[in-house]
Amino acid sequence: MNEAAAKSRRFLTDDPAPPEVYEVGREIIHGVLDRAKPQFEAQGKSLSYSEWILDYFRVSAGRERPDKENYFITFDRTVPWSLFSDISAFVDVAANRLGDQEYSEIFGDVLEPGQIGILPAGWDALECRDTIFERALVWLFHHELGHLFQDHERIRKENAPEGVDITLFVDEMMSKSEALASDMRLSWVYHATEFAADHQALHYSIFYADAKQSVASAKDISKGSIWCLVCAVAYMFHFFFSDRLYADVLEVAEGSHPDPTMRLAMLTGHLVQLLDWKSVRVNAPNAPSLEDAEKIVSSAEAAVGVYWALTHADADKALKLTDVLGRLLKCQDSILKYQIRLASVWNELRPEIMKTYFGENRAHVMDVAPPAGGPSVGI
Ligand SMILES: [Zn+2]
Repeated sequence: MNEAAAKSRRFLTDDPAPPEVYEVGREIIHGVLDRAKPQFEAQGKSLSYSEWILDYFRVSAGRERPDKENYFITFDRTVPWSLFSDISAFVDVAANRLGDQEYSEIFGDVLEPGQIGILPAGWDALECRDTIFERALVWLFHHELGHLFQDHERIRKENAPEGVDITLFVDEMMSKSEALASDMRLSWVYHATEFAADHQALHYSIFYADAKQSVASAKDISKGSIWCLVCAVAYMFHFFFSDRLYADVLEVAEGSHPDPTMRLAMLTGHLVQLLDWKSVRVNAPNAPSLEDAEKIVSSAEAAVGVYWALTHADADKALKLTDVLGRLLKCQDSILKYQIRLASVWNELRPEIMKTYFGENRAHVMDVAPPAGGPSVGI
């Protein structure tokens, strides 16, 4: 096992996973898969899911052959247990430690009477654990679906420099190959596609929130469900962050994946805007107000950040990410330059999306489909 693989494995406990975690994990994944398949089939394509037995955290999506429309998503078999074991520990800390006086400065304004720790009012620890676990898996699977729906593997291949062969395969392991060195165009293309997949995954996670239901409804959107979703997404980005060193926020793209801090900030910013869309307001009577949504986002991000600093003792990196906003605020100029460049690359690649959606009071430009009627295929 290489060093990166060994590191990625570290959140697995040595205990064997209870078989039901795998069962539930597979059930969640297959729930999403079964809903996505008809969308592929309607276009003469197929979609399958398989598992690796590498025993480290690995996720990918791709196409079998350029001339075949057979798409696949592959997760390592340990992914559900890896997520579940650490998310259980997070919920335990959130329920029993983060509501303490010691953290009142951070969480004081979101605590409501009767709350257990900092868990959302009316939600118990088991419900939070199961919901965050489900949201994390659903978001991750939808991120991969986003790559496939939006044809990212083809876009990457077509934009590779002369002589660089790119497989029709999106791998979520960070790559820093020569073709993806700092400020290479291909690296910008990779970053743009990662943000696009993040945004599409968010839309799916919000509008098809419960993988067990055939059609989840916006009625499920509540303060508690949004808190769990943000915890799940923040958790995933901490997980990705932990293997990387991002000393500064770069003005330029580098490597295959954007800085997870930036991904988290862009995604949660978009989430707050999305909750304010008219179609959401009409269909989600329990959706939090804008002001509440901002508080929920900050509280969930802070909860995951503090947990990370407390329990994953490689604290140098963890602490940097704890102060997500502070870190980004120090780099506003860099971020702006980065985002402008990212938008221009995305505009070149997918002008139809920019034309349709950019300027509709949103700063985010990666969306494929508006929520009405559910997600649509964005190819
Ligand atoms: Zn990706």
